[in-house]
Amino acid sequence: MRKPEADAKLSIGMLTHLECTRCGEHYPADRPQTVCPKDAGILYARYDLAAIKRTFSSASLSGRAPTMWRYDAILPEADPVSLGEGFTPMLSSREYPNVYIKDEGLNPTGSFKARGLSACVTMARHFGLKKLAIPSAGNAAGALAAYCAASGLEAHIFMPRDVPMANRIECDYYGAQVTLVDGLISDCARKVAALKDSESWKNDGWFDVSTTKEPYRVEGKKTMGYEVAEQLGWRMPQGIIYPTGGGVGLLGMWKAFDEMEALGWIGRERPKMITVQASGCAPIVKAWEQGATSSEMWQHAATLASGLRVPKPYGDYLILDILRKSHGTAVSATDEEIVEATRHWAKVEGIFAAPEGAASLVAYRKLRAGGFFQPEDMVVLFNTGSGLKYLDVLDASVGKSVGTGDSPVRPTQPKPAARQIGGIIGPY
Ligand SMILES: [Zn+2]
Repeated sequence: MRKPEADAKLSIGMLTHLECTRCGEHYPADRPQTVCPKDAGILYARYDLAAIKRTFSSASLSGRAPTMWRYDAILPEADPVSLGEGFTPMLSSREYPNVYIKDEGLNPTGSFKARGLSACVTMARHFGLKKLAIPSAGNAAGALAAYCAASGLEAHIFMPRDVPMANRIECDYYGAQVTLVDGLISDCARKVAALKDSESWKNDGWFDVSTTKEPYRVEGKKTMGYEVAEQLGWRMPQGIIYPTGGGVGLLGMWKAFDEMEALGWIGRERPKMITVQASGCAPIVKAWEQGATSSEMWQHAATLASGLRVPKPYGDYLILDILRKSHGTAVSATDEEIVEATRHWAKVEGIFAAPEGAASLVAYRKLRAGGFFQPEDMVVLFNTGSGLKYLDVLDASVGKSVGTGDSPVRPTQPKPAARQIGGIIGPY
């Protein structure tokens, strides 16, 4: 199906080049790349979509494996490192007739991070890299560790000493090299940066796979956009609510919609893209409300939804542009609202969500109450991970849920009242 001869020197199959999202400069795709050398813009993988359109249609997907690699026609042509990620359930809400919950908690390693790291590690192995370094406060670390284990690459993880217990233990069991750092993820990132000055970094196949600092995590995450369209019968919903830390999934889905339009799989319609963030760390919400084109560093970021503790997403300029173009918006949720929504979803929908995912429900309620969405609007809420990864976090928050009439079970052992979980993700 593929045309391997297309500019074989610089491309990988139908992946023709990388393009800077700031200045538009093109870079070859046949070697590891980080960000644009001129302006540090995020690089996007670009494909010969016209050629793909001639040989591959949405009907060709029928009967393909139910993983994200069913879309390999629009992914780099490399031997996938796969644990069965993607093609997660699109569940009809029991509470709201036109709401769907895309349950990313069923991915390998229990979160949507599996998609990005599957693609990233696939390309790292393709390029012959050996040692992948990541500063991470949680699920990305677990996913990198798993995919490195599955590929024979080394995972070098720098995480704050107080990360959620599940992330620390899974990394250990996957055989990753884990360095626990006193401080926040920004301190972890400094450890990775210091490594880059070493001789070993140049000679031993090291690579930094931080969020949006390499082009392929976005490629993995974009498959969520393909799945939304395919699972809804190639209809676009009116809205997508997406818990936004680094925002890679939001970027990826928007990229996927443009690709699918070029492929003739969907038309020009687009969902309103909604960012939800925690009130204790809401740089995109603040920038959106101010009409800004980039965000400011959020001071004293604090939320139990550790994946949302990103004080300034590296891709903020792209996130805000997507909100604007899609006529979307940005909403915040307090930790109390998030914990209550986590419990509510578990009881009402049978979905034990990550706190970040449950924030989507908080946002949907607010947007319905404010008239942004009508009852008949089809809206997809993303649950980004499994609540099982957050047992210690949720146990510590028991008794704090509000306004449901639920009867929270008190923990049998007293928990620290304000345990710091995880750290701050980016910028580095
Ligand atoms: Zn550039």
